[in-house]
Amino acid sequence: MGNAEQRRNRIVALAVALACITAFGGGMPVLVPAPRHMKTDEGEFHDKAADADGIAVQETHDASLPPESYRLSVTTSSVSIASADAAGAFYARQTIRQLATCGKTGTDGTADIAIPCVEIEDSPAYRWRGVHLDEVRHFFGKENVMRILDLMAYHKLNVFHWHLTDDEGWRLEIPKYPELTRIGAKRPNSWKRGGKPHKVNGRSVIDRNTEAYGPYFYTADDVREILAYAAARYITVVPEIELPGHAGAAVTAYPQLACKPEGVRERIWDAGWGNTIDVFCAGNDETIRFLEGVLDCVCELFPSKVIHIGGDECPRTRWKECPKCQARMKAEGLNDANDLQAWITRHFADYLEKKGRRIMGWDEILSGDVPRSAIGMSWRTSQKNGTGDKLTSGAEGAQRGHDMVMTPHLICYYDYSQDLPDDPFQYIGGHVPLEKAYSFDPCDGVADDARAHVLGGQCNNWSEFTWNEHDLAWKMWPRTCAMAEALWTAPAPRDFKDFLKRMEVHRKRLVSMGVNCAPLR
Ligand SMILES: [Zn+2]
Repeated sequence: MGNAEQRRNRIVALAVALACITAFGGGMPVLVPAPRHMKTDEGEFHDKAADADGIAVQETHDASLPPESYRLSVTTSSVSIASADAAGAFYARQTIRQLATCGKTGTDGTADIAIPCVEIEDSPAYRWRGVHLDEVRHFFGKENVMRILDLMAYHKLNVFHWHLTDDEGWRLEIPKYPELTRIGAKRPNSWKRGGKPHKVNGRSVIDRNTEAYGPYFYTADDVREILAYAAARYITVVPEIELPGHAGAAVTAYPQLACKPEGVRERIWDAGWGNTIDVFCAGNDETIRFLEGVLDCVCELFPSKVIHIGGDECPRTRWKECPKCQARMKAEGLNDANDLQAWITRHFADYLEKKGRRIMGWDEILSGDVPRSAIGMSWRTSQKNGTGDKLTSGAEGAQRGHDMVMTPHLICYYDYSQDLPDDPFQYIGGHVPLEKAYSFDPCDGVADDARAHVLGGQCNNWSEFTWNEHDLAWKMWPRTCAMAEALWTAPAPRDFKDFLKRMEVHRKRLVSMGVNCAPLR
């Protein structure tokens, strides 16, 4: 463990110690997410320790318990945990952190840690409990990512979906292709914080500043440090490399990868933000080899079984005019541009499968003929969204035998407004108040026989209108607490009033940890 991590751990431990002053709400222990079964008893366990992590705990292995689940028993004389795996024991520890109250710290650095007597049997409803972060539109950096991982662990969330490439930037160093970060990790300007959107040529834009943004990106060493930090918290990091659309930064770095290389750089950086029509040329073998090289590097770095290839909102404009794309369609017997996207998806599904990985993509990838092993990430809830192709709903994807992760934008996009009075922060549009976030049910509308394909869900934190960590925390919290409960505790309907009552206490914990958490209402 490096000095930096020790320092961070101390900060978090201190914050948790402060937070545990307020562990009770109306006499009942306050836990978020709520455990599946909890029985309280008279009395408390007491121990002298520096913080809740330092108390003496008896751990036992119980192979009969499901993955990630645990039993926690607190009596006046002992604290014991049973679990089948290390993740289960880790989640029991998170529960202890929330249950503990700390007396005054003595001169020897220890405090009287008190834990109420409880019997808890707990297990997650879903195995994919995710948080997505867009580091392209705005970059938050390693320390902030680690902070998010800490808070995810505290709420028993276990997948960090890292959006690393898009039209507005490329944030992952690929040694084989240095231009990706030399050119693609910076841009000439950004949207002005506080700027109001207005229409130019029918397109909604926001005034830009004149300051260069970046270069901002992660080196392989940064990534390895973050991956180790996540692994210690039982969090899988799923990288997203966008193809064939949302490829603006990549084709700005290497214009020859686009269908129409002339003028790519000028077009992309001058056109404001939004999905550019200059996408990867699906007919160019050099482009395919380039993407294979990028994915080789990604697979070397990231141990995740699942690699997200994006696949959303790919405009067909260039493909329809491109001789190479037309030749590919003819050679492969493809009817139209939708088939061409399905072809490129199949190619990379096969490519990654040979490396022992599975592809995941936004729900657009399911509208073509793709292998059953492809995992869909459902985000659209009406046909008005997305570009061009037929909507495949999350429920339909599961029915067709695809594993699915549900992220319906009307419930799970936290760059949408919280509908708070006098909210000073800017949002991209749409409304996801806390109660709506809490209503999330990944199996909503999914037939009984397809529910096993619903892996879980996640909140998506797009960052066009999220300039820094201060903005980001406000949008993430307390809504991420609501989502944690939807994915851990389930099933819906849950009691929102009970959640709000617990959140009165839990929000104070977050604030005392230094989280810029928005109000509950
Ligand atoms: Zn082309």
